Amino acid sequence: MRKGMGVSQGIAIGPAMVYKTRVIELTHRMITVNDVESEKKKAEAAIAGAKAELQNILDALDPKKDRAKCDLIEVQIELAADPMLQSKVNQYIEVSYRNVGDAVILAAEDIAKQFDGFCNEYYRARAVDIRDIGERLAAQAFGIKRASLARMETPSIVFAKDISPSETVMMDKEKVLAFVTELGSQTSHTAILAKMLEIPAVVGVSVEGVMDGERTMVDGATGEVLVLPSDAELATYEKRRKNFLDKRASLKKLRALSATTTDGYTVELCINIADPRETAKIKEAGADGVGLFRTEFLYMDAKELPGEEEQFNAYKMAAVSAEGRPVVIRTLDIGGDKTLPYLPIPQEANPFLGYRAIRLCLDRPDIFKAQLRAILRASAFGRLEIMFPMIGSMNQLYRAKQVVEECKKELAGQNIPFDAKIPVGMMVEIPSAAAAAQLFAKASDFFSIGTNDLCQYALAVDRMNVKISDLYNHFNPGVLRLIRNTIRAANEAGIMARMCGEMAADAAAAPLLLGMGLNEFSMNPASLPYIKDKVRGTSMARAKDIAEKAMEMDSAIDIQNYLEDLQ
Ligand code: PEP
Ligand code: MG
Repeated sequence: MRKGMGVSQGIAIGPAMVYKTRVIELTHRMITVNDVESEKKKAEAAIAGAKAELQNILDALDPKKDRAKCDLIEVQIELAADPMLQSKVNQYIEVSYRNVGDAVILAAEDIAKQFDGFCNEYYRARAVDIRDIGERLAAQAFGIKRASLARMETPSIVFAKDISPSETVMMDKEKVLAFVTELGSQTSHTAILAKMLEIPAVVGVSVEGVMDGERTMVDGATGEVLVLPSDAELATYEKRRKNFLDKRASLKKLRALSATTTDGYTVELCINIADPRETAKIKEAGADGVGLFRTEFLYMDAKELPGEEEQFNAYKMAAVSAEGRPVVIRTLDIGGDKTLPYLPIPQEANPFLGYRAIRLCLDRPDIFKAQLRAILRASAFGRLEIMFPMIGSMNQLYRAKQVVEECKKELAGQNIPFDAKIPVGMMVEIPSAAAAAQLFAKASDFFSIGTNDLCQYALAVDRMNVKISDLYNHFNPGVLRLIRNTIRAANEAGIMARMCGEMAADAAAAPLLLGMGLNEFSMNPASLPYIKDKVRGTSMARAKDIAEKAMEMDSAIDIQNYLEDLQ
């Protein structure tokens, strides 16, 4: 048995699909003059094959639901037929005696390099598409079946070294039974997406030696991964899966009930989403609204920066389908492990500490304003709130709010309706902001504690690094003091104390956070019933006691054990 870290609960049993992002490399095999004509014919066939392959993908997509994906594929079809690419391929074959596979890779690379040099972001982004088409053509020429998470034939458990958040966005959600990756962590965005999609996932496991099609089993709660299980093991897992599904079904009964403690204190439970269509899950999960809309995934699912109109439609859809419940929209939080091919950020030694989120938005008012105008316009259709990520100084908060005011003025001047009283708040995920929460509370309509980043910055532990993941623990007494101070500052200032990091989905942490005075927990919809169950089984008086006791302890492990034993 292989053991990793379970990051998204659920049990899956199915064939393995070993996913490699870049499988095709130059062979450096030269051809002779006699092979030139036949290699050129193979090039033609490879182009025709790639076009047919792409057309099949396109035909299987719903243009209404998957507009961005359709656009991407259409661009690739055009590129595959590009005469410049074809003539370069022929040149490599005729002049340099390269075999067809190597010729297409080299030709695509030559063209991609020219696009790399453009100042215009749109053209620079084309380089990624061209390299991809080169790989697709080479796969055709070499007769290699190229794995794709966007289109899988058989429902499978995906084994990979790593899966990027953008690959997760593109994948076929019906066919991925579970993920197993070597890299990643509890709070990596791939894990976060897996939870949102309710796909079991395990990270930090070697995928060495796993073969395509082998029967495998994954337990996303315990982190267990079995390859070629025995019949006895299979029976145990089937039973475990049944229990898990039964428990989940029984918790669904809580849907219509509020998250009220036994002594009558009610908190809000909200869901985190990455796509406006997920707003529908509010009702399904029995939630009070959306506590975090990670808008960057709208940008990742596109081939260029989404414009104001496109974003307006997405936010309007969220506002309308929330049916009067609040939806907290976080402004673009790109950078760190989330990148956009069409918005290249120069290589950084520490991307999580770099040019990202609000820092980038304040530097790029064109991007920031398009998003803020879209949110403001959509606010006329429901209860939207604006939230800034990665606020580290009061100056940043004031500047960001200033841009909101500018957008409001512009819209008012154009007679475009918006909610003039839209709440504007901030994420507390940088330790300096948590320590000085009393200052920020004066200028923010609410706080939402982002424990994923708060933890990594407070503990100086990279949230993506599997090697040191044992050091990453939200029960660390230092982290808890930052959280307690933030909640206290919010309570004293009379603003909402929310939490939207992964800690909000940890059932063991719920009484502690409740006792500290947290008003809203926001999480992946699958975890919500567990937290509701926990809140409904606790009294506020007891939660306060629990928080007090936990804060007297001096180690994360002691606190964790104490809280887990209470369950
Ligand atoms: C966080 O940092 O806790 C958070 C919710 O934001 P993200 O995980 O998207 O960085
Ligand atoms: Mg964050």
